[in-house]
Amino acid sequence: MVNPATGEPLANVADLSRPQIEAAVEAASQALGPWSAKTAHERAAILKRWSALIMANQEALAQIMTAEQGKPLAEARGETAFGASFLEWFSEEAKRAYGDVIPTAFAGKRYFTIRQAAGVAAAITPWNFPIAMLARKAAAALAAGCTMVAKPAAETPLCALALAQLGHEAGLPPGVFNIVTTTRAGEAGEVFCQSPKVRVLSFTGSTAVGKQLYRQCADTSKKLALELGGNAPLLVFDDADMDRAIEGVMANKYRNAGQTCVCANRIFVQSGIYETFAARLTHAVAKLTVGGGTEPGVMIGPLINTKAVEKVDRLVNDAVSKGAKVRIGGARHGRGGYFYQPTVLDSIVPGMNVMSEEIFGPVAPLIRFDSESSAIAMANDVSVGLAAYAFTRDLSRSIRLAEALQVGIVSLNDGLPSVAVAPFGGVKDSGLGREGGRQGLDEYMDTKFVCIGL
Ligand code: NAP
Repeated sequence: MVNPATGEPLANVADLSRPQIEAAVEAASQALGPWSAKTAHERAAILKRWSALIMANQEALAQIMTAEQGKPLAEARGETAFGASFLEWFSEEAKRAYGDVIPTAFAGKRYFTIRQAAGVAAAITPWNFPIAMLARKAAAALAAGCTMVAKPAAETPLCALALAQLGHEAGLPPGVFNIVTTTRAGEAGEVFCQSPKVRVLSFTGSTAVGKQLYRQCADTSKKLALELGGNAPLLVFDDADMDRAIEGVMANKYRNAGQTCVCANRIFVQSGIYETFAARLTHAVAKLTVGGGTEPGVMIGPLINTKAVEKVDRLVNDAVSKGAKVRIGGARHGRGGYFYQPTVLDSIVPGMNVMSEEIFGPVAPLIRFDSESSAIAMANDVSVGLAAYAFTRDLSRSIRLAEALQVGIVSLNDGLPSVAVAPFGGVKDSGLGREGGRQGLDEYMDTKFVCIGL
């Protein structure tokens, strides 16, 4: 693995073989009984200590993250705290995993439900949020009483290993949280999907791999949580608070150099403010400093690898060849390597590939619209539905948008909605299930109905 800011080798980690991955599943299976038998309070105490240790080591974890993933240090610190917040949240939710007492339908019978850990959970996580994505899954799974075996992305194994070390220091018993680092992603997926011992598979990554895992899990009928790709629309209406909209787009679009599944991929701007908005956004983007994530003042780090740079370049060139105008950026950065210039593209129209493909780079494509209904129709005209954003001061319109947008997350007048206390997830090809919020525990628990004849 390499440091994406320099292209220099960073570290070597173990490359586990199939039998070693199977051994990790076995370890999680052996640890399941004692872990799920602990009271929620006992599990919560360990998860809380884990969260506190993450915060106590926030700076060291941020340094590791910036070195292997590339994001600026300030963002890496923020992600570390975001990851810790899931452990804190689910340590509390574990105590509220209530069942029901159901009013009886027959005089001689009584009914109730209990909620139990589903079993061993497997996690497969991406490189773009190497601590938060893993902590979000582990926190819910372990709080519910499941044990976990997790495969981090090949680009970012160090964050996962550091997280596991802190879990160990917090008191997690052996086998409860296992990391498998491997370059054989497909084989790890097969082991997880085929093992009858694994009862839950939680995956965050691309829609294509998610669908493959969905198919692979059919034979063992697993519970599945799939957090897949997005293509978020962001709508700015004539009545928007312009300062807020610019601030929201800057925070949303350029965070992690645009490599987030919830960042705006298509920015629809109403005709009355289109010119002003485009000019002001371009002005703001011109102030973004590009560089290595540890350099002072840097706001945009490198992309993750060459493939990512080539994809962004291809999408920008496609748009320009079909009539888009480059307001700023539009090419690889002069620093070379994996750096790409923060970009604003004007005059985007349907038919350009940026409208249908996830960019995963620091490129803001602007599309002009006239009516609310046409903006909603264009926003929904994609196969995915993860997040959508709108900036407007009209309350009735806000409610119409919240109801009409076909996504799992609607954010109004705010560019950064993700938080541990609320459910995160998508509809359509963006996946299944929810992470975070009180719903997050459900992915790792089974509801059992108990009937008693008196
Ligand atoms: P990816 O190729 O799907 O990789 C994600 C994870 O899956 C990595 O750990 C990868 O391992 C593993 N993987 C790859 N092929 C596999 C296979 N055949 N079987 C089992 N595992 C396999 O996605 P990516 O390009 O790294 O990540 C970007 C995508 O993730 C985007 O589409 C983004 O929208 C999505 N994402 C979604 C969310 C969300 O919550 N909805 C959050 C973040 C990202 P290797 O690294 O070893 O290949």
